[in-house]
Amino acid sequence: MEYYSSHINRLIEQLSSLPGIGAKSAQRLAFHILNMPADQVEKLTSSISDARKNVRYCKNCYTLTDREICPICSNEERDHTTIMVVENTRDLAAYEKTGKYNGVYHVLHGAISPMLGIGPDDIRLKELIARLAGDVKEVIIATNSSLEGETTAMYLSRLIKPTGIRVTRIASGVPVGGDLEYIDEVTLLRALEGRVSL
Ligand code: ZN
Repeated sequence: MEYYSSHINRLIEQLSSLPGIGAKSAQRLAFHILNMPADQVEKLTSSISDARKNVRYCKNCYTLTDREICPICSNEERDHTTIMVVENTRDLAAYEKTGKYNGVYHVLHGAISPMLGIGPDDIRLKELIARLAGDVKEVIIATNSSLEGETTAMYLSRLIKPTGIRVTRIASGVPVGGDLEYIDEVTLLRALEGRVSL
């Protein structure tokens, strides 16, 4: 890309290092940014650096927040004896959007993956175990239904069961609006196993 100035090249290079941004999108974004009013560009860059500077992990559940203890953990109205374990803050946000869950969370920031060399010590598992010493009645494992998510769920349930705390796994199965004939057997089997009485 010799035909652009090195400033433009640097911007394109930085943008294309972001997830989901290929070379073409990076170019489009770069030229869009170059055409933006200077004060708007300033707002964009300062929002990025401010977020990076001020956002940290909640000391309790390890979600991303700008306080020492996140708003969910500091909410007295929520049921602190039920902990839902999720892989990342986006999954927490997804459950929060349902508005139906009143417990608290624990964010692992990943999942166990022997293939990628990610072990139990590489995610926030120890921190979860430490929380179980408190008054906890149920741990809901809401990791993804991927191989990594399932491995993590198995590992966690084996670890927690001996403590006598109830361990549950979110049901997975037929998506709403899904056509049964197009769904794979594993998913159907899971749907059957996770059936509820009507
Ligand atoms: Zn928290």
